[in-house]
Amino acid sequence: MSVSFSLSPEQEQLKKAARAFAEAHLRDLAAAVRAEPDPARRAALARPAFERAVEAGFLKGFVPVPFGGAATGGVDAAVLIEEWAAHSPDFVISMAGPLIALAPVYQVGTPEQIRRFVAPFLADSGAPVAAMAYSEPGGSANFDAPAPAEGTRTTAVHDGDDYVINGRKAWASHLPGWDGDGPDVMTIVCRAPGGVSLVVAEREHLAGRIEVEEVYDLPGLRGCLTARVRLVDVRVPRANLLGEEGQGVALTRNAFVGSGASIGTFAVAAMREAFDVAHRFATTEKRGGAVPIIEHQSVADLLADAKSRIEAVRLLSWRALDAALSGHPSGLEWALHAKVLGSETGVEVITKLMGVVGVSAYDERFPLVRYLNDALAYPVIEGSNTGVRRRQLQELLRAPGYDPLAASGMG
Ligand SMILES: Cc1cc2nc3c(=O)[nH]c(=O)nc-3n(C[C@H](O)[C@H](O)[C@H](O)COP(=O)(O)OP(=O)(O)OC[C@H]3O[C@@H](n4cnc5c(N)ncnc54)[C@H](O)[C@@H]3O)c2cc1C
Repeated sequence: MSVSFSLSPEQEQLKKAARAFAEAHLRDLAAAVRAEPDPARRAALARPAFERAVEAGFLKGFVPVPFGGAATGGVDAAVLIEEWAAHSPDFVISMAGPLIALAPVYQVGTPEQIRRFVAPFLADSGAPVAAMAYSEPGGSANFDAPAPAEGTRTTAVHDGDDYVINGRKAWASHLPGWDGDGPDVMTIVCRAPGGVSLVVAEREHLAGRIEVEEVYDLPGLRGCLTARVRLVDVRVPRANLLGEEGQGVALTRNAFVGSGASIGTFAVAAMREAFDVAHRFATTEKRGGAVPIIEHQSVADLLADAKSRIEAVRLLSWRALDAALSGHPSGLEWALHAKVLGSETGVEVITKLMGVVGVSAYDERFPLVRYLNDALAYPVIEGSNTGVRRRQLQELLRAPGYDPLAASGMG
C-alpha cells in the first residue's frame, strides 16, 4: 500500500471549515486580545468564539470516537490546529484542555468515570473547559523525584471515602475556569498515600476552593488563561482516583504525548504566518535599492532555508500526531522529535525571517515579532525541552535494545 501525503477529500473539507471558522471568529479575537492589556480580561474575550466552536461541533473533535467524540486522526488534528493556530494559538490551547486532561481517563478510567468526566465535552452548547493540573510554582520537571527531593508537593490525604487535596498549581490553562470556581474537569497530579496519583476534581468539588494568586501576563500566547492557584481542602470522592495510587507518574507522562506532538504544528502555524509576511515584504520592498530585496541572494537564501524547514516540520508533525493519537508503539518518540525539533526550529526560523525584514520587524505594530513571541513559548511549554523532553529522549535512546529504525518502520 502506498503512503499518500495528499489531504483526502474529507481533510480538504475539514481544512476549509477550520479556515472559515478562523477567519470568521479568530482573526478579530486575535486583534482584540492584542489590544487588551489586562490578562484576565484578555482570556475572557475568547468565550464567545469558544461557544461558537462548541456549537459547530469542534470541541467533540478533541474527544476520540470510542468515547463519544468525533476525533478522527492525527493528520486531521494537525490540519485543524494549524488553521486555527495561524490566527490564535492561545484559543487552540484554551480549547484543547481535554486532549491532555482526559487522556488518562481514556487510558484507565472505569466506564462510570469515562461517562461522567467526558460528558461535559460532548455538549453542543456552552464553553466547557478542562485543566491538566500538573505544573507547580516551584517546578515540575522533577515531579517524579523520590524523597528526599520534594517531587510533587500537592497532597491528597484520605478522609473516609474522600480525598482532601491541598497544594499550589500553576501554568495549566483554565485552572480557575471562566469564573474562578474551576474548570468542568481538573485532573490533579498529587501525592497520595500510595505515591504520585491522578485524581479528577469536578466543578462541584472546586467551587470556592480555588484561590487565584496571580494571573500570568505572558509575552506571547497572550489570550491564554494561565494562573497560579492554591487548592484549599478540595474534597473529592476516592472514586475519582484514576487507576491506582502510585500510577500517576506513568499516566502523567502519557497524558502529554499527544499535546507534545501538537507543538510541532503550533510552530508550523507561527512559521507559516511569519514566512508569509517576510516573503511579501521581500517581493515588494526595495528599501531604497533598485530591485525588490528578494533579488539579493542573501535574502533569497534566508527565505529558501525557512521554507524548507517549515515543510520538514509540518511533515514531521503530521507523522508525530498520527503516531501519538493512534497509539503507535513509537508514538512517544515521534512526539518528542516534533516537540523538540519543531519548537526550536520555530524560534530559529522566525528569528531569521526577522532578518529578511530588518529593523521594521522590531516594531510591535509590524506583524512579525508577535509570531516570535508565541514561538518562544513552544520550547518551554508541554514540558520544557531541557528539563523534560530531552530527558525523555535520552531515556529512549539508552534503553537496552533500542532500535533506531523502529520508529520509521524501516527496522
Ligand atoms: C501557555 C502555557 C500552557 C501550559 N499548559 C499547561 C498545562 O495544561 N498543564 C500543566 O501542568 N502545565 C502547563 N504549562 C506548563 C508547562 O507544561 C511546563 O513545560 C512545565 O511546567 C514544565 O516546566 P519546566 O520543564 O520548565 O520545569 P521546571 O521544573 O520549572 O524546570 C525549570 C528548568 O530547570 C532545569 N531542570 C530541572 N530539572 C531538570 C532535570 N532533571 N534535568 C535537566 N534539567 C532540569 C531545566 O533547565 C528546566 O527547563 C503551560 C505553560 C504555558 C506557558
